Amino acid sequence: MTRRLGSGSLVIATHNAGKLKEISALLEPHGMKCLSAGSLGLPEPEETGTTFVENALIKARASAEASGIVSLADDSGMSVAALDGRPGVYTADWAERQHFEGAPGRDWYMAMGKVEGMLAEKGPDAPRDAWFSCVLAIAWPDGDSAVYEGRVDGSLTWPPRGTLGFGYDPVFVPAGREQTFAELDPAEKHAMSHRADAFAKLVAEQFG
Ligand code: IMP
Repeated sequence: MTRRLGSGSLVIATHNAGKLKEISALLEPHGMKCLSAGSLGLPEPEETGTTFVENALIKARASAEASGIVSLADDSGMSVAALDGRPGVYTADWAERQHFEGAPGRDWYMAMGKVEGMLAEKGPDAPRDAWFSCVLAIAWPDGDSAVYEGRVDGSLTWPPRGTLGFGYDPVFVPAGREQTFAELDPAEKHAMSHRADAFAKLVAEQFG
């Protein structure tokens, strides 16, 4: 049987204030007191894994070891069937502007263009199926862990459409819908997203 969190303190192993707020709002009703890795001054480990599960576990374990408190981390990204699952764990890296002069940072239109260019090279009949994944990993200071994987399937459209959301949302059309994630009402996206799927699994097993 999977170990349960019970109630008490939980470190959210992210330095992203938006994620901390979103995750805390989901877990605090279940009696968890969420602390942030950033406010505890915990270092950010290098994400050297080749899967979402490995990277989420690296982050959760680093936080649990450094803080001595049970920790939760997430890792997410987009996979394209015709590109053998890429960009996958490199989803954010494909947006890095390191090859250009000027301010470093992430350029999502460049990243979406890269995916589209690679798909175009596969020819007009290449399948456009893609999916977003979200893995949540819980690590206890004694080395125990639990992992929850969420996913939403869809297809890629071109050109990008919509101004809501973030990342690759403007090119992703979830299965059964015509609008992209960047055109859908955010509440609708959040209800069907890979993150919602992973959290539903975590909440069902940990607090159900
Ligand atoms: P990380 O989990 O913070 O490492 O994020 C990985 C990357 O995946 C993000 O920077 C986004 O580009 C992409 N990604 C994850 N979830 C979504 C989503 O819901 N919409 C669009 N892009 C996403």
